[in-house]
Amino acid sequence: MAIRKIITPPDPLLREKSLRVTQVDDDVRALIRDMFDTMYAAPGIGLAAVQVGEPLAIIVMDPAGENEEPRPKALINPQIVWKADELREYEEGCLSVPEVYDKVVRPAEVRVRYLDEQGEEREELFRGMEATIVQHEIDHTRGILFVDYLGRLKRERYLKKVIKKARLARP
Ligand SMILES: [Zn+2]
Repeated sequence: MAIRKIITPPDPLLREKSLRVTQVDDDVRALIRDMFDTMYAAPGIGLAAVQVGEPLAIIVMDPAGENEEPRPKALINPQIVWKADELREYEEGCLSVPEVYDKVVRPAEVRVRYLDEQGEEREELFRGMEATIVQHEIDHTRGILFVDYLGRLKRERYLKKVIKKARLARP
């Protein structure tokens, strides 16, 4: 078990496009285990590999609530292949943008194509909370943060707040 450090702005990696995974091997599976450890320890409900400093197109998520059975899911090279017209609004947060929460509107359902931990191609429909999480995490693999949806003024204010806080916390 290894809990990794979660990067925050202004780390330029957060703005980079993650690389596609060409081979799903033990190294990839070990990274996924670390990502789950890091996500559950935070605690959070989703995490992208770039957030632990590995710019690979891998995301993990678990939408289960506090008193529910865990539903861990890892997606490698996730790609949205269909979006619903219907929208869903949710107050999002992000482990890389701590203590910032704001409403983001996204498609209420998406169909995602990805590789599982065995390297098998899968396609799955995500709805509700799961749709919000999977879209937020896929954004990370493209260098997009949820605050980017909030307009320039809010985005700059939130990022400034995070950067200032990180600077104060440094010993
Ligand atoms: Zn995030």
